Order: sequence, then structure tokens, then C-alpha cells
Amino acid sequence: MTARMGTARLGPAERSAALEQMGVAELDVVVIGGGIVGAGVALDAATRGLSVGLLEARDFASGTSSRSSKLIHGGLRYLEQLNFDLVREALQERALLLQRIAPHLVRPVPFLFPLTHLGWERPYVGAGLVMYDSLGFSFGFTRGVPGHRHLSRRRALRLAPALRRTAFSGAVQYWDAQVDDARYVMTVLRTAATYGAHVASRAQVVGFLREGERVTGVRVRDLEAGTELAVRARQVVNATGVWTDDIQELVGGRGQIHVRASKGIHLVVPRDRIHSLTGIILRTEKSVLFVIPWGRHWIIGTTDTRWDLDRAHPAASRSDIDYVLEHVNEVLSVPLTRDDVEGVYAGLRPLLSGESEETSKLSREHVVAHPVPGLVMIAGGKYTTYRVMARDAVDAVAHGLDQRVPPSCTDRIPLAGAEGYQALWNSRHRMAQSSGLHVARIEHLLQRYGSLIDEVLVLIERDPSLARPLAGADDYLRAEIVYAATHEGARHLNDVLARRTHVSIETFHRGLAVAQEAAELLAEPLGWDAEQVKREVEYYTKRIEAERLSQEQDTDHEADAIRLGAPEIVPVATPDPV
Ligand SMILES: Cc1cc2nc3c(=O)[nH]c(=O)nc-3n(C[C@H](O)[C@H](O)[C@H](O)COP(=O)(O)OP(=O)(O)OC[C@H]3O[C@@H](n4cnc5c(N)ncnc54)[C@H](O)[C@@H]3O)c2cc1C
Repeated sequence: MTARMGTARLGPAERSAALEQMGVAELDVVVIGGGIVGAGVALDAATRGLSVGLLEARDFASGTSSRSSKLIHGGLRYLEQLNFDLVREALQERALLLQRIAPHLVRPVPFLFPLTHLGWERPYVGAGLVMYDSLGFSFGFTRGVPGHRHLSRRRALRLAPALRRTAFSGAVQYWDAQVDDARYVMTVLRTAATYGAHVASRAQVVGFLREGERVTGVRVRDLEAGTELAVRARQVVNATGVWTDDIQELVGGRGQIHVRASKGIHLVVPRDRIHSLTGIILRTEKSVLFVIPWGRHWIIGTTDTRWDLDRAHPAASRSDIDYVLEHVNEVLSVPLTRDDVEGVYAGLRPLLSGESEETSKLSREHVVAHPVPGLVMIAGGKYTTYRVMARDAVDAVAHGLDQRVPPSCTDRIPLAGAEGYQALWNSRHRMAQSSGLHVARIEHLLQRYGSLIDEVLVLIERDPSLARPLAGADDYLRAEIVYAATHEGARHLNDVLARRTHVSIETFHRGLAVAQEAAELLAEPLGWDAEQVKREVEYYTKRIEAERLSQEQDTDHEADAIRLGAPEIVPVATPDPV
């Protein structure tokens, strides 16, 4: 109980306090970017005893880190590219996250690999999976997921009756892990704040403080207040994913690392559209396609195409959607149509630019650089290995600080909500009785909040109307909407419907049917008047309409132009180089 008493909140008051604190004394480190990499860096630095600030221009995780396939995995296809070290590292992280760091947020997930070639394919895939499973063992840990198994076509069909009989000859099933990527970032940030990090969203870095060549801090625009402040820091970390080059431009000079964007889209369909007890992985000509179980839904993706347009709101076009449908339909006995699609999202991979023009061949490994004194840049990598990326970036920070800094200890730091999770899970029936909620609801809450569930239940105790589900998105309780604002850093309706919950991709109405109710629930914790409630609903509606329309367009350019037609509720500023 005591361990979780002190978990930091990320409410509006805490945001103001964090910005104020960042303006007062020189920090050891300031991190630009509140995606998984920036969040990981903030936690790594704070737990080494450094003073830390983190600035995010939009909502936490609103960039790539809420738009991934949501897998914590080694990546079977890197094995095929013989990149064993990358796979081993990722699988060791998988074991650590599953068993120690975030057992409440990271879960095992099975995949069926249908075999289509008689003869060579089973031994080939089987040998790969023997290696995948054995690379997954790490010092002091078990793999955290069951091992793979070979299946005849008949047994595979029992697991996945949705598969078309003639589409495959047999199958192999293996296990990986999955995570709610946006919630995970927010949880890492709450953990970092608990260890003393100051974190603020809607706070954009618009320039650098310099002392000659040396970077000595950043200039920040508080986008909510319209004010500007200077944050002094001994080291600045650029963790801005696909915006890395923009920050490099702000500091001037030629960067050593270039990052370019590759778009990947996913479709969300209701669970009953594909009758299967397991996820499915399919080979495509360029890469792989996953069919991933996601609560009462399936997530299907992804694509891999170059993207040079708007990076804040990458748009999925009709061609992207058709590509995914076409590939998944190759193996389904009842094909999916566009009418089955509840949600669509697109994300941008931050790829280190290399010689090869084909994005699917660019490196997934990360790089740390010190482009000018006082600035560390971390780029590339993937979600699964964020902790390793963060460790390497903070090692570079430590080097620049010229003082003894203890080694990274995040491999031993459970995230907020992890402590006591197992015991609470085992008591879920008792919790259901005492709270009056159904046990399925308690399970859902435990898998989103872990042992922080008490904080949500307290809200319900104070106001029993919060125990009701949202009318139109009944996976979520009204209390979860309030909690997103008071504790989880949500500042706008879109933050809540797209990232703290996933109503915007999990319902056919894409959140429009609950927007008014959710905005009204947010009014009190965020201090909105009736005018602001109306504005929030209007902006959200415009966003959804623009997204829907962009998904009818054939090309990226047309889709992007339409998506850009929906204004931002808090527009970002034009940066201002020194
Ligand atoms: C389609 C797709 C599927 C993927 N699937 C997986 C997967 O299943 N498993 C896996 O391990 N990896 C996966 N990845 C990769 C993974 O999602 C990314 O590597 C990771 O999320 C990148 O995180 P990041 O923190 O570097 O970037 P981001 O999450 O984009 O964060 C960068 C942040 O910087 C902020 N920022 C930019 N400029 C400024 C500024 N001036 N001031 C303040 N803040 C600023 C942005 O707003 C943004 O929030 C996938 C990626 C994609 C696109």
C-alpha cells in the first residue's frame, strides 16, 4: 500500500508547478519529447539522482508512441535478417517488462503463423522459432511467455476457424507480448515524476539557450498560457522521434544523424468479425501483417511507405486501407470489407536514414550522438527497447556532466501500478464484491491501472454516478474520464478519447457519440466553462470528420490535405532558431 501512496499525479496543478520549477534553477537534464523514448530518458535520469525536466509540445505519446502495433517483441523478421543481437536485446526487454517492470500493462499474446509452402517452410519457420524462444531467456528471468508449437491444419483451424482451409497447409503458434502504448508512456512519465522529474505537456521547445557553441538550455513556449520561459540545463536531450532533424536545425549546423519517416497504418475491427482464439501473423511481399487481439477488437496492420507530409497527423488513405484488407482477406474464409472497419490509425516510424531507399530495409537500431556540447541526441530504435535507448542516452548525458553519475537502474524500477498488482489480481473477486463492480470491470481496471486502481475507485466512492459506463463506449467508466484529467495529464477531449482511452478507434462512431458526455465530465477537473466544453466537442468532431474523409482519398497527398483541414485545439508555434 505505502509504495503506491506516493505516486505522482499529472493533473493541471502539477503541470503548472512543473513548469514553474523548471524556470527556477538550472537542471542537470532537460528532455525534449514526451514519447516513449523521452519518457524513458526522464525516468532513467531521475532514478540516477539527476534533476530532470521533460517538455512535450503536444499531448504525451501523441506522436509515434500511440500509433504502433502495440507489440513488445523481438521481431521475427529481424531474425530472418540475421540480426541476432537486436532480437536478443528486445526479447530480454520483453521478459523484464512482462515480469518485473510492468506486469499490469504488458501481456503475453499468441500468434499463429500459417504455412503456405509444403516441405521447406515448416523446418525453416520452426528453426527460427526455436531460436526466437531460446534468445528470449535472460539472466535471472524465464522467457515470460510459452514456447512455440507445431500444428496440423486441422488443429490450427480449431484455434482459428476464420482461416480459409485452402489458404494454408499447417501452422506454427508462438508467443510475444503486447502493450497499450499510449498508456505505457504516461505511466513511465508518472513514475519519473514520482522520482522527482518535472514533466509538462503542451510545452514546446522553440529555441535553445547558448553560451558560445555550448547549449545551456531551451526556450519553451507554454502553448496553453501563450507565455515563454527559459529552462537552463547542463545537458539537453533531443528525443523527438520523427522531429529529430527539426530540433537539429534549431541548434544550427549539420546533424550527424538524420531521421526520416515511414508510415504504417492499422485497422481496428470488432472481435466477432474474425473467429479466432489466437493472433495471426502473415507474410507480405515487403514485411509482415499482424492480426492482433485487442480487447473486444482486432488490430490489423501494418504498412510501410515513405512519408514526407504532415508529421503530427499522418493520414491513412483509401489505398493504405485497401492494402491491409486485401492481404488479410487472402487467408480469411469470410472476407472483411470497409464496413467492418471501426477505427483506423496511422503512425510514423522514426528511421535512421541510410543508403537504402526502401524504408523497410532501413535500420531499426538506435544511435546516440553529441552533435554540439550540451546536447545529446537519441534516435531510431523501437518501442520494445526504449529502456536500453534511454540508458544509452543518459550514459552520454553523464559523460557530458563531468561528474560521477550512478549506472542505470531502471531494470529494477517497477512502473507506477506494478507494485502489488499480482496480489490485487488474485483478490479481484473480493474487490468486485466490496466495490459493487462486476469482476470483469475490475479486471479491465487492473489491466489499465494496476495497483493504482484504488485511486479510480476512490473517485467512484465519492461520486457513485462515475461507476456508470460511458453511454456509447461501455468498455470505459465515467470515472476513467475524470481520472485521465486529474492524474494522467490529459488536457483536452482528444487526449482522453484517443490516448487515455481508445474510444476513437474502438467504436464505429469514433467517439462522436460520447464526446459531449466526456467533455462535460472533464469540465470540472480542467476548469472549463460551457463555452470551452462546446469548443472541445467541435474540435473533436472536426478531427473525426477530416480523418474519415481523408480515408476516402486515393493518395497520400489528397489524404494529407484533407486531414490538415481540421484545426488543432492547441496549435504548435513556429520555432524560432537562435
Ligand atoms: C506503424 C508502426 C508500428 C510500430 N510497431 C511497433 C511495435 O509493435 N513494437 C515496437 O517495439 N515498436 C513499434 N514501432 C516503433 C515505435 O512505435 C517507435 O520507435 C517509438 O514509438 C518512437 O518513440 P519516440 O519517443 O522516439 O517518438 P514519438 O513517440 O514520436 O515522440 C516524440 C515526441 O516529441 C515531441 N516533440 C517534437 N518536437 C518537439 C518540440 N519542439 N518540443 C517539445 N516536444 C516536441 C512530439 O510531439 C512527440 O510526442 C512502430 C512504429 C510504427 C510507426
